Amino acid sequence: MFGAVRRLATAAASAQVSRLQDVVIVGGGPAGLSLLAALKSSHKTRHLKCTLVEGGSLDNIRTFGEDPPENYTNRVVSLTPQSVEFMQERIGSWQYINQDRIKFYSSIVAYDSQEKDARIQFDASMTDGNGVLAVMCENINIQSLLLSRIDEIGDSTILDNTKVLDIVHPNKPEINHDLTAEPQTTSPGLDWPIVQLSNGESIQTRLLVGADGYNSPVRKFSGIESRGWQYGRFGVVATIKLQYEDYRSIGWQRFLTTGPLAILPLTEDNATIVWSSTPELSDILLKVTPEIFVHLVNAAMTLDEVDLNYIYGVLKKDPTDTSVLEEIEWRMSKIKLSELEEKYPLPVSEVIDKSRARFPLKMSHADTYVAPRVALIGDAAHTIHPLAGQGLNMGQSDVAGLVEALEKGVERGMDIGSTLVLESYVSNTWPANSMLLGVCDKLHKIFSTDFYPLVLLRGIGMKSLNMLDVVKDLMVKSMAR
Ligand SMILES: Cc1cc2nc3c(=O)[nH]c(=O)nc-3n(C[C@H](O)[C@H](O)[C@H](O)COP(=O)(O)OP(=O)(O)OC[C@H]3O[C@@H](n4cnc5c(N)ncnc54)[C@H](O)[C@@H]3O)c2cc1C
Repeated sequence: MFGAVRRLATAAASAQVSRLQDVVIVGGGPAGLSLLAALKSSHKTRHLKCTLVEGGSLDNIRTFGEDPPENYTNRVVSLTPQSVEFMQERIGSWQYINQDRIKFYSSIVAYDSQEKDARIQFDASMTDGNGVLAVMCENINIQSLLLSRIDEIGDSTILDNTKVLDIVHPNKPEINHDLTAEPQTTSPGLDWPIVQLSNGESIQTRLLVGADGYNSPVRKFSGIESRGWQYGRFGVVATIKLQYEDYRSIGWQRFLTTGPLAILPLTEDNATIVWSSTPELSDILLKVTPEIFVHLVNAAMTLDEVDLNYIYGVLKKDPTDTSVLEEIEWRMSKIKLSELEEKYPLPVSEVIDKSRARFPLKMSHADTYVAPRVALIGDAAHTIHPLAGQGLNMGQSDVAGLVEALEKGVERGMDIGSTLVLESYVSNTWPANSMLLGVCDKLHKIFSTDFYPLVLLRGIGMKSLNMLDVVKDLMVKSMAR
């Protein structure tokens, strides 16, 4: 649709601008809602006239606080203590969290499928999180708390079920050869972008923020380049039940050559998985029966990859072939019970109906996050492999950085849409994001090989990393910003 931006420019510019705003945020995901809540919570920026536009419906987010669905939804993220603190201290929204649906956990055990003894344990003691490494929380719970805070403050407009159809620059209309066309009716002299909505409205804004995800229409409008690649992998997510509640509050991640598989704890006997897998394997994981799926997760956390590949081969021919159940049980029975209890997560006993889904995994980073009158935040600015659970957290630190830049601009009486104000947002966030993107990309590459010399090096690295607390500390700190 946005390939047609230039073609539609004249028509849009000649549309009646119904409102002028200081900030229009496109996208009501975690990043967009967070920005609106943060702007309205800051005494320096709360006077700004803000509108948030979201293409989808926010109805289920509005009802989540009072009336959440019985089972956990399948989009769950690991929030760092820094993100929680930001929502607590700067936005004042954490009080609206649905407490029954979050799980604090204190450590994560990462281990290698090719090297049995290669393990790293990340502990809460390595972060400043007061005994907490991270908090597992549904995306919808985060959006719900942000929306509650926005509603509490009032004085902003949220348009959901409303798509941004087009964005045009008033000073750069295409040459119109139609001499009978209506003259331009934007506010004269304003170089502010005009956002044309599916409800027929056109809003002209001093600052346009793209919180509109990976395919960001705002980024395309701004002409900011984004570079990266597809991993050729899918993240398969699902909500599962463990055999019983895991009081250890530990997350587990096994690095398989197809990609890492993580089991992360939720309240009671619930847990969530993210299984990065090849297109072929992800296809199998979505097609197999719930019973086979459960066995597959248990097998993939425990068995050798040779065994796993054999099982995948059987299921590729027939995803309903229940003979694999016996195969898996027989192979698992060869591992000592004490070893299973000590070194591996609790067995999975059930997968919640319809909770399986898959998402393509990619790495992307915009060359910059700002252009005149435009800023990008969240996935519109960067997407990262989920192996370190950082995407949404990076979006939170973008919001913190952008609000800080805007606060300074307001304090100094400057135009908040000018690059002079926006530049400090880029310089304070881009380098750290770039480093994190690089670390996760390299981890993905190092772990998704079965090339023996590399596997050997990796094993040695994992073992020695566990001993080298300083290095481990650095890694944890960089990831728990
Ligand atoms: C499998 C998986 C596991 C993950 N695990 C973690 C984790 O543990 N921790 C973590 O921090 N992150 C994790 N992430 C990443 C995290 O989910 C994302 O980074 C985060 O949800 C992005 O939020 P956002 O608000 O930037 O974008 P989005 O959530 O994509 O929101 C963009 C919004 O913009 C709207 N929009 C787009 N175009 C238009 C338009 N034209 N008009 C109006 N609205 C529009 C869309 O409807 C959407 O609501 C994971 C991701 C995946 C795929």
